[in-house]
Amino acid sequence: MTTASAYDLLLTGGNVLDPAQGIDGRRDIAFKDGLVAEVAERIDAAKAANSVDVTGKLITPGLIDLHGHFYHGGNPTAVHPDEICLSSGTTTGIDAGSAGFINYEAMRDYVFPAHRTRLLAFLHVSGVGLANNRLLLGGLHDMRMIDVDATSDAIKNNPGFCLGVKVRMHFNAVAAWNAHEAMRAARAVADQSGTRLMVHVSGTPIALSDVLEFLGPGDISTHAFNGLPENILDRNLKIKPQVKEAVGRGVIMDVAHAGVHCDVEVAQAAMQQGLFPHTISTDIHNPPPDRTVYKMNDLVSKFHAMGMPLNDAITASTSTPAKVLDLGDTIGSLAVGMSGDAAVFDMREGAFKWIDSAGHSQDGKVRLDTYLTVRAGQVGWREGRLMQMGEC
Ligand SMILES: [Zn+2]
Repeated sequence: MTTASAYDLLLTGGNVLDPAQGIDGRRDIAFKDGLVAEVAERIDAAKAANSVDVTGKLITPGLIDLHGHFYHGGNPTAVHPDEICLSSGTTTGIDAGSAGFINYEAMRDYVFPAHRTRLLAFLHVSGVGLANNRLLLGGLHDMRMIDVDATSDAIKNNPGFCLGVKVRMHFNAVAAWNAHEAMRAARAVADQSGTRLMVHVSGTPIALSDVLEFLGPGDISTHAFNGLPENILDRNLKIKPQVKEAVGRGVIMDVAHAGVHCDVEVAQAAMQQGLFPHTISTDIHNPPPDRTVYKMNDLVSKFHAMGMPLNDAITASTSTPAKVLDLGDTIGSLAVGMSGDAAVFDMREGAFKWIDSAGHSQDGKVRLDTYLTVRAGQVGWREGRLMQMGEC
């Protein structure tokens, strides 16, 4: 006769860093039925069906990537979610507008359910999302691509899956003479659907201050630290007053690094003036061959190297994005009862260099190497490979 174990999985001996709970110290963590079941200084291994000794490693809540492209197969730049997310300690990936109201259903019904990573989406205000990017470099060359009511209805009809609306304010995606109209439409979708607005602010065809005027508390300015013209700094490298005002009214400054959307010198100047990223995200996609993109574990490491305390960099990749998405009661922390999503990292010491496409680089001495990722209480990735359900 077999006795049912109290716990499905136990991690022992790790150093837990969970800013939402104020925990920074050695803890054991047990998972049961997909949730965090116990966090304590010692938990008896005999109570768990599987246990993994992670002595000396860093355990954080599963990372949340607020901006990535995960509609794998749905458009050419989207990545394989599990390979990218689980290998980087990321357990929740938010697709930032790869699809619009016309083509999101295959993402919801076929692509995302094929992965273990929790995947949610912002719909693009352009009806086909980014499907025509490779040919047209953007989706808003023709304002007929926008249907405010249809997009708003699609978001409203998918609570818990569609989190808001995305619009790309890039000079390749929308003409200057249409940019205000596109912003008004995106604002209307967010308001009608009762959700939030995420705006690509890198390479804006109109003044950044004009774009920010459309954003209120909880809306997201993504690629906030880009180095293109119309970035957050004035010509004296001071943060523009309109940017400070936006932050003051609760606009979220999100990294969305990609290859070209985060400039080390802009981020450094902002942080020296007290503006740290609220959320660290990747904008992960399949880049052209000459560009480097980074996964979450590298971006947390990079911002830590740039001067963000590790606690703050983990906050910006766990509890803050959870709060921004109104998911703070489910993800972003390892409190008992929360989703059983965790990341285990080796704090690798060495000489590391993270580059950006402006030609700047950031040196660092510590990199978070993913050792193991737990998703819904099961080991999803371990030491270089994806795991099957129930494998440990
Ligand atoms: Zn993006």
